[in-house]
Amino acid sequence: MARREFLKALNRSAILNIIKTYGPIARTDIARLSGLSPAAVTGLTAELIEDGLVFEKQEGDSRGGRKPILLALDASHAYVVGIKLAEESATLALTDLNSEVLAQHSVLLTRREPVPVSDLLAEGVRELLRSAQVDHDCLLGIGVGLAGLIDSNAGICRVSPHNGWRDVPFAHLLEERLDCPVYLDNNVNTLTRVEQLYGVGQHVKDFLVVTIGRGVGLGIVANGQVYRGAHGAGGEFGHIVVDPDGLVCNCGNRGCLETFVAEPWLLRRAHLAGLEVSTPEELVAKAKAGNPTAIETLSRAGAVFGQALSTLVNLLEPALIIISGEGVRAGEFMFAPMRDAMAHHIFDRQAERIELRIEPLSDDTWARGAASLVLARIFHAPQLERQAALPQ
Ligand SMILES: [Zn+2]
Repeated sequence: MARREFLKALNRSAILNIIKTYGPIARTDIARLSGLSPAAVTGLTAELIEDGLVFEKQEGDSRGGRKPILLALDASHAYVVGIKLAEESATLALTDLNSEVLAQHSVLLTRREPVPVSDLLAEGVRELLRSAQVDHDCLLGIGVGLAGLIDSNAGICRVSPHNGWRDVPFAHLLEERLDCPVYLDNNVNTLTRVEQLYGVGQHVKDFLVVTIGRGVGLGIVANGQVYRGAHGAGGEFGHIVVDPDGLVCNCGNRGCLETFVAEPWLLRRAHLAGLEVSTPEELVAKAKAGNPTAIETLSRAGAVFGQALSTLVNLLEPALIIISGEGVRAGEFMFAPMRDAMAHHIFDRQAERIELRIEPLSDDTWARGAASLVLARIFHAPQLERQAALPQ
């Protein structure tokens, strides 16, 4: 992208984001909030209106003179699809520009290899559009969230722990089949995006999203940007070593955080302590019924989790931590000891300033998250890594 175009894209996203967040809003207020000149605002909003993303509304509070013309987001003109790709199934959601889910569809994945999976997902997307009676031309893009190490710039799945993929150009495979832009990211980063664009992270510049479930995931927003590390492999919170002499983790190391907190490991620890439970729900039910082994398993997990979170807080000092994922079903059996550990280990009095939110999660939240990969490209300024590619 040439420098001029890059700056224009930056300003366009900034304006669109202001209209999304504060609209309906007058052009003069957009100029004030964005710091752009009125002429630049007029030019860029004209383009947004022509593209059908924004429309003019003649209403609002007029103090005396004629009513001001306000600009609002035209959420119903364009759509995006989010796909949460799991091991055996995928959840697809069609959303508008406000991230409202309009239709959903599930696809059973009968095969694991990248090509058959992309065929099945492409058919699922067509079915979703048909059922919602949305024209393919109105589809702005598709976002896919999956577990593993993802190079989101290149759209390549580097490593996926669940289906054994390595260096699969999955975005390209879907683009070939569906003829629209496809974006790929780690599913914790997709949740982080949806919180940043539409959730509690909207007005917070520094926050963390931590997921617990099959594994432990971390999304980091630092100074308003999703932080990924030098090669996109940052945020592997689940594999920080908590006990060097602990149980051997899937990654080969001993005593990773996951081996204390992730649900399959909770079951294993309960089993080692002599309690036979086959599902996480069963473990929580046993704890509720007062079983001491179940309570101790969840409580130990909470204490270790709280200690690990304290390390993150001491390093990053976020204003907000959102804890989500299937694992939150453990409830206070895990979170009470977690909070105790945080109160104990967080440096100085930072703990008092941090907002902690525990949010249950469903498959459609994951799919909304995936859709927000596309929405982030529309509303968020182009990322800094693109600047590196500018001609000098
Ligand atoms: Zn590990």
